[in-house]
Amino acid sequence: MTSCAQVQSKDVSMRELDEGILQTNMGRIGQKILVLSGKGGVGKSTVAANLAVALSKAGKRVGLLDVDLHGPSIPKILGLEGMRLCPDAMGHIEPIMVSETLSVISVGLLLDKQTDAVVWRGPMKQNVIRQFLKDGVWGDLDVLVVDSPPGTGDEPLAVAEMVGENASAVIVTTPQDVAIADVRRSVSFCRMLELPIAGIIENMSGLACPHCGEIVDLFKTGGGGKLAREMGVPFLGCIPLDPDIVSAGDSGTTFTQSSTNSLGAQAFASVIAPILNPISPAELESNSKEPQSMKIAIPTAQGELCMHFGHCEQFTMIEVDPTTKSVLSTEMLTPPPHEPGVLPRWLSEQGANLIIAGGMGQRAQGLFVKNGINVIVGAPGKSPEVLALSYLNNTLESGANACDH
Ligand code: ADP
Repeated sequence: MTSCAQVQSKDVSMRELDEGILQTNMGRIGQKILVLSGKGGVGKSTVAANLAVALSKAGKRVGLLDVDLHGPSIPKILGLEGMRLCPDAMGHIEPIMVSETLSVISVGLLLDKQTDAVVWRGPMKQNVIRQFLKDGVWGDLDVLVVDSPPGTGDEPLAVAEMVGENASAVIVTTPQDVAIADVRRSVSFCRMLELPIAGIIENMSGLACPHCGEIVDLFKTGGGGKLAREMGVPFLGCIPLDPDIVSAGDSGTTFTQSSTNSLGAQAFASVIAPILNPISPAELESNSKEPQSMKIAIPTAQGELCMHFGHCEQFTMIEVDPTTKSVLSTEMLTPPPHEPGVLPRWLSEQGANLIIAGGMGQRAQGLFVKNGINVIVGAPGKSPEVLALSYLNNTLESGANACDH
């Protein structure tokens, strides 16, 4: 009879074997590029597919892995609908060859029909990601582009952990504030995992007018670039909303394949140029570090911290260098009229990373955090520079929240 201990030790050795196979498979791939986004619908798959096609056209051996479990759109974008992956008896999965140098595995190619819904339970998601990486017959590749699940949850975490070394992230966003707040989380996610960030792409940035060829500012633009500067991450550039991109995606050819000369295609080419050229390890390492400077916003009245956050008429914005613990610049800013939700958005646009306040309601604190701004409450009524320096030197006294309503 098999004892419990024997079963457990068999489980452990199977896991070790699996891990070994995964590492060997990933070790045959020169570079992994994880395409991430804070949320769905921002064009992550479009970027991943076009990046993979552009890399393969540039002569690299490329794999494209689509593990966007809840919205696998790579088969549609590459015109692979109707094709199916067939794992062999050992569970090995041969990718579908789109060209001699581009192989694709997508979770969408396991479904009978594109419209089939899959209910993924927790561990199944990790298992399918592991299986694609471990049992995919990728062979020797220069680059594996991964269309990752959106957000910063367990699934993108599993991808980042399983791909192993020589990985970097490209973060795709749209310009609106709601998307930008999500990108802050994606950047923090990469920093937490020490995953170097190759850069941020702002997609759907203005509309490429099919009549005059000009870029029309539909909502606003520039949020991605501003955020990249604030967070010390490279900005790769903007891609406009372009009807050619929609029709290319819908017809199953990437706009990179169809060599369209639309504004969107031109923008895409310039955005990915730095990715096509290898990124130096030193550059990557510096991208994974904390930014050189941060901005602290302090509500101010008569030269001192103002206890009434919601009624203060001015903010002192102090840019500091946390490494040298010094003040780089100080500026007085007048906020727009106070209405619910205005200050978090406005301070985020001003690039604030931290607020030092006397008091603030819980709800307001939550709104700032949602906008990527940390809050310290209970600070004393001293001059803003003194407070900023105390914060940098870890000597900031913060007592009770002075006004919690
Ligand atoms: P995600 O992977 O982030 O969910 P997709 O890449 O699937 O997003 O894109 C969602 C939709 O937006 C698709 O129909 C795609 O063709 C379209 N799209 C993406 N980028 C652009 C763009 N720059 N201009 C026009 N349409 C775009």
